[in-house]
Amino acid sequence: MKILLVAEQKDGRLQDNYTELLAFAERLGSEPTMFLVGGSQLPKFAGILYLADSTQYGEYNPGVHKDLLQKAIVREQPDLIVFAHSSYGWDLAPRLTVAIGAGQISEVVGIDGDGWQVMACNAKLRRTVKSLRPVTVLTLQAGAFAAENLPSGEPTVVRLTADVTGQVELLGYEAAQKGAVDLSKASVIVSAGRGVGKPENIAMVASLAKALGGEYGASRPVVDAEWVEHNRQVGTTGSTVAPKLYVACGISGAVQHLAGMKKSEFIVAVNTDRDAPIGEVADVFVVADLKQFLPVLTERLQAA
Ligand SMILES: Cc1cc2nc3c(=O)[nH]c(=O)nc-3n(C[C@H](O)[C@H](O)[C@H](O)COP(=O)(O)OP(=O)(O)OC[C@H]3O[C@@H](n4cnc5c(N)ncnc54)[C@H](O)[C@@H]3O)c2cc1C
Repeated sequence: MKILLVAEQKDGRLQDNYTELLAFAERLGSEPTMFLVGGSQLPKFAGILYLADSTQYGEYNPGVHKDLLQKAIVREQPDLIVFAHSSYGWDLAPRLTVAIGAGQISEVVGIDGDGWQVMACNAKLRRTVKSLRPVTVLTLQAGAFAAENLPSGEPTVVRLTADVTGQVELLGYEAAQKGAVDLSKASVIVSAGRGVGKPENIAMVASLAKALGGEYGASRPVVDAEWVEHNRQVGTTGSTVAPKLYVACGISGAVQHLAGMKKSEFIVAVNTDRDAPIGEVADVFVVADLKQFLPVLTERLQAA
């Protein structure tokens, strides 16, 4: 199977997620080629890199990048074109799919024979889908195909130039507001998930974090609901943390959350559902209603 991986650059820096694309290709036993609109920082791998100059074509310019990608596709004739499910990937992938008449499967988290696994029902189920077209465009969920070893090697660069100018221009990026909390430095983190039920219950999670001498964090739905500020979000679109102790309260264990905390030294999960996927990474799994369990635990710790 021939695979073309689409790497990306942001703010002048090659994005690390290209290593996940390589890990995916390795899982399929395929020697990939890669495409990048980038600068001097090149991905590490031994293969062909189709490279276009980001100073000329911009880091984000979907019309032009689509044209450049199509040039690489004409040369490579890949069966699969694979993006990260990033803001770059989820914008460019469908444009390319339509342009080349491919099939697209988004947010792939696993491989199942000749089918692709994607999440369903709020990440409680995985469904397997198959493309019916000869060429398929995939986007991969962040963290689903983590690279075990850092890639190495020097690519063979093939330069690409575009024939179109595109219709949008990237004006710049605006950094998210930095708060006082830096979760990546905390040695204990107690995180609230959707299982807390209502914003008033965040206080229980914060109290336990304080009793343990740590900070509190949250999963994305809790942040999206504005119960907790964004700088406390753990996961692929929040912070990546590796504390000595991570307590996940009412968190199911979706792949994007796990990608941000699974390197924690010791993981405790508190969940009413004994089959919640967080159990796959938890050292201790407490099957309990957090509203009953957390206040008792906090009280005991405060009394100790
Ligand atoms: C591109 C993208 C990026 C994302 N980035 C992130 C990210 O950075 N971080 C992140 O967290 N998510 C992220 N997500 C969302 C992710 O897919 C999940 O939807 C999210 O992590 C689920 O959050 P949750 O576990 O809090 O909620 P749910 O999946 O709804 O789980 C709630 C859990 O609480 C348990 N529960 C319910 N009531 C109780 C109770 N009383 N006591 C104890 N347990 C209870 C339930 O059994 C369940 O397991 C991202 C998704 C996408 C598509």
